[in-house]
Amino acid sequence: MAPPAEERRPDPPDLRAALEPLVSAFAGRRLAVLTGAGISTDSGIPDYRSPGSAPRRPMTHQQFVASDRFRRHYWARNHLGWRHLQQAEPNAGHRALAAMERDGLLTGVITQNIDLLHVRAGSRTVVHLHGRYDRVLCLSCGLEISREEHDRVLVELNPHWRERFAELEDLEVAPDADVVLESTADFRIADCPRCGGILKPDVVFFGDNTPRERVEAAYAIADEAEGLLVAGSSLAVMGGLRFARRAAKAGRPVGIVNRGSTRGDDLATASVHAGTSQALPLLAEMLAAHR
Ligand SMILES: [Zn+2]
Repeated sequence: MAPPAEERRPDPPDLRAALEPLVSAFAGRRLAVLTGAGISTDSGIPDYRSPGSAPRRPMTHQQFVASDRFRRHYWARNHLGWRHLQQAEPNAGHRALAAMERDGLLTGVITQNIDLLHVRAGSRTVVHLHGRYDRVLCLSCGLEISREEHDRVLVELNPHWRERFAELEDLEVAPDADVVLESTADFRIADCPRCGGILKPDVVFFGDNTPRERVEAAYAIADEAEGLLVAGSSLAVMGGLRFARRAAKAGRPVGIVNRGSTRGDDLATASVHAGTSQALPLLAEMLAAHR
């Protein structure tokens, strides 16, 4: 399905001119950055909320916990797809933010992404609001296992499973029909090796709350800053929007770089409809010149 024309605007022909209002708002200020899926699409990680994406129903925490059929389904797909995240490379947008932090322009990055690409690009102060794909947690005793280690267990339980299926990317999609659940019904999952509890990726599911200490860490980054840059997020989920609201309420400028409109546009001092891989390196260069 083609995205609606008004939602999927091309990048402005003169990006430098388009960024000027952001630079004016941010010049001389240390910034907190909030990033979403849009910053990672150029690294080959699809953004399911971007304009034109097919509607999807993510698996909820409640479904995952209540039903071992859902857990088998989730882990089967995760088993197929997680290495795709492992193999993704940071892009120019991630690298620009890492460079801005090194130059003292940022208090840190708050990300809604679980892909760790900020860390791989060299960002040091990063809060992963929605968790990270590379860890698995026991819901009962809190034991933390690396996804790599868990992979060895799942491969042993399910020899040749990966070879039997094409790579799937939509890891969290709830099955719409029993026939879909049936396709993964023979996948064998592992429980906590310490207490036998349910193992879940360290990822915030639909219907989960973000752990309080993580929200506090994110607020600390945001409140230490003198402005908020939103990059590659449409602020569709409340978790992201509250940072824009908080900054605006405190009188700090909010600037947005995103393809398509966002729920925070009316809070923004300046909003630029552009791809982050193109806009962030240029923005970094322009802000550095204003120091
Ligand atoms: Zn346990």
